[in-house]
Amino acid sequence: MDPSTLARLEAWLRYGEDLGLAPYFLNRAPNSAPMATAAPAPAAPAPLAAKPKAAPLPAPPAVPTRAATPTSALPLIPHPPARSLFDVSDRIENDTLPRIRDDIGDCTRCRLHQARTQIVYGVGNPKAELVFVGEGPGHDEDVQGEPFVGRAGKLLTQMIEAMSLRREDVYICNVVKCRPPENRLPEKDEIATCSPFLFRQLAAIQPKVICCLGACAAQTLLETNQGISRFRGEWFDFRGSKLIATYHPAYLLRNPNAKSEVWKDLQKVMSLLGLQPRKR
Ligand code: SF4
Repeated sequence: MDPSTLARLEAWLRYGEDLGLAPYFLNRAPNSAPMATAAPAPAAPAPLAAKPKAAPLPAPPAVPTRAATPTSALPLIPHPPARSLFDVSDRIENDTLPRIRDDIGDCTRCRLHQARTQIVYGVGNPKAELVFVGEGPGHDEDVQGEPFVGRAGKLLTQMIEAMSLRREDVYICNVVKCRPPENRLPEKDEIATCSPFLFRQLAAIQPKVICCLGACAAQTLLETNQGISRFRGEWFDFRGSKLIATYHPAYLLRNPNAKSEVWKDLQKVMSLLGLQPRKR
């Protein structure tokens, strides 16, 4: 850049800063974006009464236009690519499961802390290829501090073993970490408060497959209000993992006829992970 162009650019930057507009000069438009008409050159700035150091500023130079100036000569200030909302809100560099547990602490962030016995964080292989996500702890989980240890949990363990895996091969966790009273569904605000920890758990593990057990987990991760029967057994992309939803084992205890549907879903998971059914 030649000295006179540089001087004009610096005058523009000082002008913007004195007006309190910095960093308005960050041009986030891609280089190829057309600029059909030139912006009119602004008039000389009025003296700023509130700024004692406001020495008379030079009249700002005319803004070079893309039509009149080759792209390579435009005074664009490079900037890093914008981060996604997920990157900003959820992803933490080098996050680990112990660190997330530490961050949860003795959590009182939502009302579910009031009736819990203990926080039920998650259990299993921190490098698991397969993660099961349920909705929240029940009575047995609340007492033992481990997810899926009651009757529904025993059924889940049988399902895992039928896939020729062991419980300790996978990771198991819930959307909310404290037991909702009377085993009710977690409320929306409780899910919103607690689910960032689940997102961090999933980001730290980076499994190949996430299997949502029941509507609450599926609707939370897929950000939908649709009923699970609308999308059960279908594959979705979720932040680098494949996600599938199936019925909750507690539902299977009440509706044993649905077991065949769930087994079909689990076979899809096995196929993706290259697993063979356990020989009986
Ligand atoms: Fe905290 Fe989650 Fe328990 Fe609510 S459910 S108190 S957010 S750990």
